[in-house]
Amino acid sequence: MERRRGKNPSNNVPLFGIALKKRGSAGYEYRGVFAPYDLREMEGNFERFEQLVEQQEGRKARADDWNDFCEKCGKKGGLTMCLGCNLVFHERCLVSKVIDGGLKRNEELICPDCAKDMHEKGGGERGGASRQ
Ligand SMILES: [Zn+2]
Ligand SMILES: [Zn+2]
Repeated sequence: MERRRGKNPSNNVPLFGIALKKRGSAGYEYRGVFAPYDLREMEGNFERFEQLVEQQEGRKARADDWNDFCEKCGKKGGLTMCLGCNLVFHERCLVSKVIDGGLKRNEELICPDCAKDMHEKGGGERGGASRQ
């Protein structure tokens, strides 16, 4: 399987985002990210991996578009897919290290690399998008 958008995650940084999925809405609300970025200020800058696949290949994303092995420990099984790329993680390898109990049922993962991308794209001044 070809890997679109392959990444080199920085294994030593426990940084990730959690998107709180809003039912019946295309948007996401961010519960936040754990140091040093705050994804809640970046709504609208985030592109889901599914959208990338659709744009690039003109088809719906399938489960096998994502990796099969946890990006942290390299093992299979019970993986959580990143919303923004093809990386997958065990909750115990990433989320649970920072948040007790891990993700809630209506929450999804934005991996450290996508969180960084969002920060770099959305951070700084974006004209007119100041908060209310
Ligand atoms: Zn793992
Ligand atoms: Zn990602």
